[in-house]
Amino acid sequence: MATYEYRCPSHEVLFESQHPIGEAPETAVCPACGGVSRRVISSPYLSRSGSAAFKLIDSTVRSAAEPQVVNSRIPGAPKRVQPYTSNPLHQKLPRP
Ligand SMILES: [Zn+2]
Repeated sequence: MATYEYRCPSHEVLFESQHPIGEAPETAVCPACGGVSRRVISSPYLSRSGSAAFKLIDSTVRSAAEPQVVNSRIPGAPKRVQPYTSNPLHQKLPRP
């Protein structure tokens, strides 16, 4: 079953109706006024919510807008100081 949309010409309201794919009629009866409504072409609903890929995209977008705050380093991780340069001559430069 697929969801098809119909537009009532008398009051310009969209309503949905379920039919098997490829067997939807061109017209349907408006549930509000009983008038003949034509089927309209609408975008398909292709959501993959619940899949791992969609969750990853959602968490990536959320982390960009709301980054997690880190107050300390990872427990048990070795404390490593990153040298600014590996050139030994830079060790002799005056320090502020
Ligand atoms: Zn109607």
